[in-house]
Amino acid sequence: MSKFDVAAATAQYMATLSPEAHAKATAYTHGGEWVMLWSTVISILISWLVLRSGVLQRTRAGIKAAWLAVLAVVAVDGIIGMIADLPWSAYAGWWREKSYGLTSQPFGGWLADHFKGAGIGFLFSLIILSLLYLVIRRAPKTWWLWCGAGVGALLVVAQVVLVPLIQPIFNKYTPAPPGAVRDTVVAMAKQVGVPSDKIYIYDGSKQSNRYTANVAGLAGSARVAMSDVMFKKDADIAEVRGVVGHEMGHYVHQHGLWGSLAQAVLAMLAFFLADRLFMPVLRLTGAKGITGIADPAGLPVLGIILAVLGLLGTPLSMTITRTMESDADHFSVVNFNEPDGLSKALVKTIEYRASSPSALEEILFYDHPSVENRVRKAMEWKAAHMPPEAAAAPATGALATAPKPAAADDIGVVGMAAPKGSQMETVPSNVEVGNITFEQPKPKKK
Ligand SMILES: [Zn+2]
Repeated sequence: MSKFDVAAATAQYMATLSPEAHAKATAYTHGGEWVMLWSTVISILISWLVLRSGVLQRTRAGIKAAWLAVLAVVAVDGIIGMIADLPWSAYAGWWREKSYGLTSQPFGGWLADHFKGAGIGFLFSLIILSLLYLVIRRAPKTWWLWCGAGVGALLVVAQVVLVPLIQPIFNKYTPAPPGAVRDTVVAMAKQVGVPSDKIYIYDGSKQSNRYTANVAGLAGSARVAMSDVMFKKDADIAEVRGVVGHEMGHYVHQHGLWGSLAQAVLAMLAFFLADRLFMPVLRLTGAKGITGIADPAGLPVLGIILAVLGLLGTPLSMTITRTMESDADHFSVVNFNEPDGLSKALVKTIEYRASSPSALEEILFYDHPSVENRVRKAMEWKAAHMPPEAAAAPATGALATAPKPAAADDIGVVGMAAPKGSQMETVPSNVEVGNITFEQPKPKKK
């Protein structure tokens, strides 16, 4: 056995943060889990109030054409939902982030981004829900099958077409200037067959002070994007290689496609259950004047069912993404051999995602493996691949390059550049619907 002590090396990385910082991270993480639960409760409550008010029933009452009735109902429901949900979104998406020092974006900036996201979401919901109701009318028995497949197709289209279209609405993307970081990323891209001609920098510092990189696109359409924060701060090349290597792992292993396939299967299951549960849930709500699942005025009933199923299905979809994240970490160390670079970046994400949850908490709520588990895996890989003379050195020596606590700022691991802390709310986040690569923003250290 090598003398390199994996457990000690892992513990040393965990100790990069003070116990107080770990406690704060745990409070933030647990708060986020409650936010997820409350978001579901609030969306159900809003749906129920809309149903009971009869506003959607009246909206579609005088409209003859079925497609027009759907558009009118979706528009009214969307606008009511946007307004009713705003206070909660502001609390969860901005105030809570701000109170933990996770964003320095002013409220006005957050609000502008929020409305951009909501506006894009509104347009998409008009199109997507029109299609959904069209399929329900045409294939009342098998609509759930077609619509589930449709979700998969949409996710693929989103990754290839929409992400490059929508990201520039939130941030400015410009080609990367020559320099060490660019050279590093180009060499890495060539090594593993990721297109290296589209390498961009975007003004990620607008939303947060984190150092981020991501690879978007599928099958030959890849583009690598790095936050300008990387260039404003002294970039540690080992970390760049560890982090960008992880993102390239998502691309090379086609996690976008696999994630879309998994989401399509989950969507099919959810639509099937929604089909069977629609009438019982409709009766439970006590809403009047809704004829069945094909009636667009019943949209909030579908919303309630899907919100509950989404919550119940969270552990399943989280496990799917955790598996792919783990695979991306593995890809990074195998191809770029930076277990310490990756670990150094990972420990800087602890502040907003507690490093050492219980196994159950990790299964239920974590879309990435816990940092402790990820660092341990990297250290195991290091132990198994280090030359014998290095393995004989004391563990502390092997960690000579571990970050000092004071250096633990501005370097985080981020996937598809969600402009805010929240994962599920904004359109750019939804565009990652595969839940594939987004990794949370890194807090600015006081
Ligand atoms: Zn990832």
